[in-house]
Amino acid sequence: MNAAPSSSQAGPRSRRPASQRAPRGRWAPSPTGLLHIGNARTALAAWLSVRQRGGAFVWRVEDIDAPRTVAGMAEAAVEDLAWLGLDWDEDPARGGPYAPYAQSQRSLVYEAALRVLAKRGRLFPCRLSRRDLIDMASAPHAEDEHQAGEEEPPYPAHARPADLEPGWYDRLSSGEAALRFAVDAGVVRFVDRLYGAIDERVDRSVGDFVLKRRDGLYAYQLAAVVDDWTMEIDEVVRGADLLGSTARQIQLLEALGARRPVYAHVPLVVGAGGEKLSKRDASITLRSLREQGAAPWQVVGYLAWSLGIVDRPMAATARELVSEFSWSRIAPGEWRLPGDLLARLRELRRSSRQPGRG
Ligand code: GLU
Repeated sequence: MNAAPSSSQAGPRSRRPASQRAPRGRWAPSPTGLLHIGNARTALAAWLSVRQRGGAFVWRVEDIDAPRTVAGMAEAAVEDLAWLGLDWDEDPARGGPYAPYAQSQRSLVYEAALRVLAKRGRLFPCRLSRRDLIDMASAPHAEDEHQAGEEEPPYPAHARPADLEPGWYDRLSSGEAALRFAVDAGVVRFVDRLYGAIDERVDRSVGDFVLKRRDGLYAYQLAAVVDDWTMEIDEVVRGADLLGSTARQIQLLEALGARRPVYAHVPLVVGAGGEKLSKRDASITLRSLREQGAAPWQVVGYLAWSLGIVDRPMAATARELVSEFSWSRIAPGEWRLPGDLLARLRELRRSSRQPGRG
């Protein structure tokens, strides 16, 4: 395992108080497919926000879920965002002070965090299967409501082991049990930059969630939280599909003794028919737009308009938009792609009025 010294212990390496640290944002794609226009829109918002604050932009590859990782997609994402005109300061290839930047190489950091949680009594082994949990949640006569593929019900706190022997964590052999986080029963309140104040009772919405699967796979929730913490990220910008993970991540951060970052969940882009965009839909990938002749300043300017950063579709580079950016301008609600996206992009001319108001 090739891990930087900072990775063998839990917690950030900087000893400076958070108020004196430089702003740090991140982009954390899972390499499961080519980036589509919705991914690019979120990346643009994350980049503009951190560049406007004069901070560092961190590229982290979320390749923790090996079975879903598609070869070549991490490299393709780098190429596509660079084509768009975004840049970043730290990434898996060039490294940086918080290396490594690929989750597949960060097991030591996740293990250190799990150990902290075990010591604090916030971790327990779980031998129940998904089927067991569904059965436990079922009313005696309602079994057929639980179809295959249905979401796992919230983990019931009464199913936690009553008491764990000291040292259980060190004696656990691999493959013996999943590890779950013992959630708090209180309300988690956070203010999202775009969705406002949100209250959630994590014990009711998901219950004690899995941090490491029985087969040894680290859960996204653990990896994302530990990475945002140890990489000293102070602003998390990502798609609104992850809004529902935030309360859980905050509980986990707090259990680790970490400060919470600010969150901004960017409304999703939906297809012309209102459907969710998928990385499998080739027609709206950055790659295909580029291959069909769209220029990066057409895509960027159009996305900036879709976000509400500029008041009409225009040709603009990402750099030109830095001074225009403000979270208060971002349009709430999903954005529906026009059916003739490529034609609209092509109408945008570099000679048209450049960003800037008045
Ligand atoms: N890896 C996730 C994705 O590609 C993003 C996770 C995050 O930003 O927390 O959608």
